[in-house]
Amino acid sequence: STSADDLCELGRRHVTNGLGRLTEGIMAKGSGSYVEYEDGKRLLDFTSGIGVTSLGHCHPKVSQAAAEQCLTLVHAQCSIAFHKPYLQLVERLLPVMPHPSLDSFFFWNSGSEAVEAAIKLARVATGRQHIICMQGGYHGRTYGAMAVTKSKTIYSEGVFPVMPGVFSIPYPYWHQHGLPPSTPTSTLVSRSLYQLDLLLAQQSAPRDTAAIIVEPLLGEGGYVPAAPEFLQGLRDVCDKHGILLIVDEVQSGFARTGKFFMIEHSGVRPDIMVIAKGLANGFPLSGVVGRKEHTDKLKPGTMGGTYAGNAVSCAAAVAVADVIKGENILANVQDRSRELFDSLEALRSDPDVFPYILDVRGAGLMVAVEFSSPNGPGAQFDPVTKADSPKSLASRVVKACIDKGLLIMTTSAYEVVRFIPPLNISHQDLKKGAEIFGQAVRQVLR
Ligand code: PMP
Repeated sequence: STSADDLCELGRRHVTNGLGRLTEGIMAKGSGSYVEYEDGKRLLDFTSGIGVTSLGHCHPKVSQAAAEQCLTLVHAQCSIAFHKPYLQLVERLLPVMPHPSLDSFFFWNSGSEAVEAAIKLARVATGRQHIICMQGGYHGRTYGAMAVTKSKTIYSEGVFPVMPGVFSIPYPYWHQHGLPPSTPTSTLVSRSLYQLDLLLAQQSAPRDTAAIIVEPLLGEGGYVPAAPEFLQGLRDVCDKHGILLIVDEVQSGFARTGKFFMIEHSGVRPDIMVIAKGLANGFPLSGVVGRKEHTDKLKPGTMGGTYAGNAVSCAAAVAVADVIKGENILANVQDRSRELFDSLEALRSDPDVFPYILDVRGAGLMVAVEFSSPNGPGAQFDPVTKADSPKSLASRVVKACIDKGLLIMTTSAYEVVRFIPPLNISHQDLKKGAEIFGQAVRQVLR
């Protein structure tokens, strides 16, 4: 059979250039917190496939559930009949929703598709068209999701027009306001909420505005947890004007932040929630959760998709929900999170490192280190600094980590390295990853 090198060469020639790729070679196996490449290279995985394999690679209970479903019924087609895993998944998810009003589910394959469906639902439920999103936000690469994505131009560059009727306000993150990192959160929150008021007065009348879509912990745009006051502020504006609040928990959901959903840290009630990634630990599955009073306005047939809510993916997701509960995953996230923050703060307190690290932030095991701009030690911020520029400290640190055996990645925007290890990672592996990161930072700054 064809050698691994020749297969890679085939890939380089015949797989679209539209895909970026962090590492060379062929990823061949995954087990728990580690992945192995075809050439034998073994890496500790702090990417979890971008926040997906949250229970580690090939969790035996999840893989087993999927394998059994594979031999029972692979494809039932959601518009032909219910299948059991679909309904069992609803049964598992109902009690963990951040608010009991979230009681109506529909499942898709990808986060982007679910974002599209959430927007459709908001438009149908309100009879209004406009969507307000966040500058810095990321929701996917399909046309509607791309329209509400404002983290980087690369996703929509050259392919406009995207979905119309979209307006945006700055996320309460200093870059989005052109302010220094030392800016108090309360200032960022009030500036963002003021922009929302302005927007509703000047550009998008409340009676035309269907929804506000927000990531409660900004993901691709820099791993920034939203202050609870910001989310509460959005909720208040929504309540005042009959606008729906769409909370995108694609990356932050399913125990990632130490609660089942990030939005729980603020106590704010979403009207619509979008879920994916950790939901099925690697099987393609996403979902939209809304209120029955809203989803009842959808005519049968307006939602659906050939593979939407696949039986194998749903069976995997049922197992995920059972493992999160049965294996005390939330407690592990909280413990490991403390250890990770402690070690990153200790690294930052080193006087040689301090000027280059602007921030250590996040929640649970969705954590980030933001580096200063490569323009110099302590260089504050630079709106055009991209983590993929060759001078970027973040991308050089990532490269050094990978060379030392730690698979880790930047966020799509800014000088940010993100930590998204498996939620059931051991104390030893977490410590090992944090140590490699520290060595890599020192090596790059030397
Ligand atoms: N929303 C958020 C918050 C995400 O992080 C992502 C993926 N990174 C998406 C939506 C899109 O999901 P998908 O890539 O599955 O389409």
